Amino acid sequence: SETDMLRYLRRLSDKDLALDRTMIPLGSCTMKLNATVEMLPITWPGFCDLHPYAPADQAQGYQSLLADLERWLCAISGYDAMSFQPNSGAQGEYAGLLAIRAYHRARGQGERNVCLIPASAHGTNPASAQMAGMNVVVVKCDDEGNIDLEDMQAKVMAHAADLSAVMITYPSTHGVFEENMRAICDMVHAAGGQVYVDGANMNAQVGLARPADYGGDVSHFNLHKTFCIPHGGGGPGMGPIGVRAHLAPFLPGNPADAAVDVAVSAAQFGSASILPISWAYIRLMGDEGLKRATQVAILNANYIVSRLSDAYPVLYRGAKGRVAHECILDLRPIKDNVGVTVDDMAKRLVDYGFHAPTVSFPVAGTFMIEPTESEGKAELDRFCDAMLAIREEVRAVEQGTVTAEQSVLRHAPHTGAAVTAEVWEHPYSRQQACFPPGVNPATKYWPNVARIDNVYGDRNLVCSCPDIAEWME
Ligand SMILES: *Cc1c(COP(=O)(O)O)cnc(C)c1O
Repeated sequence: SETDMLRYLRRLSDKDLALDRTMIPLGSCTMKLNATVEMLPITWPGFCDLHPYAPADQAQGYQSLLADLERWLCAISGYDAMSFQPNSGAQGEYAGLLAIRAYHRARGQGERNVCLIPASAHGTNPASAQMAGMNVVVVKCDDEGNIDLEDMQAKVMAHAADLSAVMITYPSTHGVFEENMRAICDMVHAAGGQVYVDGANMNAQVGLARPADYGGDVSHFNLHKTFCIPHGGGGPGMGPIGVRAHLAPFLPGNPADAAVDVAVSAAQFGSASILPISWAYIRLMGDEGLKRATQVAILNANYIVSRLSDAYPVLYRGAKGRVAHECILDLRPIKDNVGVTVDDMAKRLVDYGFHAPTVSFPVAGTFMIEPTESEGKAELDRFCDAMLAIREEVRAVEQGTVTAEQSVLRHAPHTGAAVTAEVWEHPYSRQQACFPPGVNPATKYWPNVARIDNVYGDRNLVCSCPDIAEWME
């Protein structure tokens, strides 16, 4: 019945630890506000009931929306043309690399098939290069997390004859503005290669820097990160690519057109129905608002660094001691010293009412934290206070008061059922388990499941469907 359905949906949302309860400080993912006013229009029939292959004269509203978005994203990035076909960042990478490949072939340089990728890159970069038929060559990073210039130079020289492209993320996934970006782009261009700038970190650049200005030939833009489309849980995304003019002829074409031979998705404009969200965001923010968002995103990350760096070492910083819009906290020394793991700390954050940050990417044993501009100082402080309180819980293990195995960290998160059970065999109190410092009992988020074995879960498929006999009945 509708009543049951309503309650079922409510039950699901009560279980969720989502942005309507807490910041989701997932580094690299840019979990910013998805404003209601941006979301509402995608429910309007004019946007959500149109077939992707509707004749062009019946889709003039979409054409106008696409034209605005193309103009705005070109202005933001410095590129000359866009394709809205890719449905994700990874698909944008693939489309961009296909464009680069076609460009080299059109110039009689089809032998160029090496793609240089720094060790700090997101896993999708080498995967996309591989799918585009390129040979991936990894470039080292130095101790500060920057691309190793000498190694880059050596590999560009060694592959001068067969260099197709370099893929670089700016600011890097190490959370810093790489200072040698222009030098690297110049080096690659001089050797006849093309520069793919991974645009996933545009949230640290919009209004301040443009990929095409410092050397990019092509980039994807994760509209589901920087431009407010909600994501997580496998929802639809959009990863349009921007290119400089020389690559524009090689953008993917309409898959419904028999004369077109390169298309990366089944619809000409990908998941077009979610584009009104990004359109509304850009239109509402305007030039000044977008720039301010970038500045506040960077400020927020640096505020977290300044509050937490005495308790947790910050793995990488730029030459001036600052980070970009995200930061990596190194938890490996804690594991090495007392055996408390990055997972223990991530799960414990759930007891404090927080979604965990990104764990073990791009460096194993670390947290990558990205607050975004959407969080105010009160929420940043609530998060920093929780992280500092967890540091004190680790200190109890360091001081030998409890072992890591017996600690509140190892048994986190604590469900309501666990803390109210007749039997309680932990050395810490029930209060400490579920109401640690800063947690208000009135607004407490109660985890639904206790610790699960992640690795076991990833490796063992558990089918929960009814068996065939039940179906026959
Ligand atoms: C998110 C991300 C990607 C991949 O984007 P998807 O939309 O998830 O496919 C690529 N590179 C970086 C640096 C990212 O953060």
